[in-house]
Amino acid sequence: MAEQIDAPGAQQFIPPQADTLDQLRAAAAGCQGCELYRDASQTVFGRGDESARLVFVGEQPGDMEDHKGLPFVGPAGRLLRKAVDDAGIDPGHLYLTNAVKHFRFELRGRRRIHQTPDRVHITACRPWLVAEFSRLRPELVVVLGATAAKALLGPSFRVTRQRGELLPWPASAQRPEDFARVPVDSAGKVADAPAARLLATIHPSAVLRADDQNTAYEGLVADLTVAARALAA
Ligand code: SF4
Repeated sequence: MAEQIDAPGAQQFIPPQADTLDQLRAAAAGCQGCELYRDASQTVFGRGDESARLVFVGEQPGDMEDHKGLPFVGPAGRLLRKAVDDAGIDPGHLYLTNAVKHFRFELRGRRRIHQTPDRVHITACRPWLVAEFSRLRPELVVVLGATAAKALLGPSFRVTRQRGELLPWPASAQRPEDFARVPVDSAGKVADAPAARLLATIHPSAVLRADDQNTAYEGLVADLTVAARALAA
């Protein structure tokens, strides 16, 4: 019989008065919103500046990210940085995060093999994404792969069909109301989030797994070039 997954969700671990990403990051270190915290080394929260013009949302930390506590520092992260560079995006403009903030894996011998997060993990961890976005004011959100697309855009969104298209943000979100209002002061006053756009593309790990890595990489760079032009416009 399959193990029953107990996933109360992250919401109860988010301090209602958190004013900064650093406060959210500190609170996320103690999250037990789903069972993934048990086997992973640590929570891997987003990194970058609150004023970042682009927010990249990936799937989950990998083996190296889990050890270092930072997102996108493994092989897929290196490839993403190269693609960002080749697309002409200023790397100083980025905030990088993941839909799920603990590494999900299975042990094979001594190796930890990546496992795609289930819907229950994506749903449990989504409150951290919503909380991060409440502190960010991006002009463009870049969704990397199917897991991030499910977290932000819902299960019916297909990256393969709509990659490289500029969509309105937060109007294209699965629940736009989660992202539509943002705090403007520490007294709890809120205002409409600035209108932005969203673009979906493949996860850089899909390039590393592709039979034809050159073509897959060119496709990733082409999508990110759309993002770069949108920022420049
Ligand atoms: S994956 Fe997300 S919801 Fe689950 S324990 Fe980690 S931070 Fe909390």
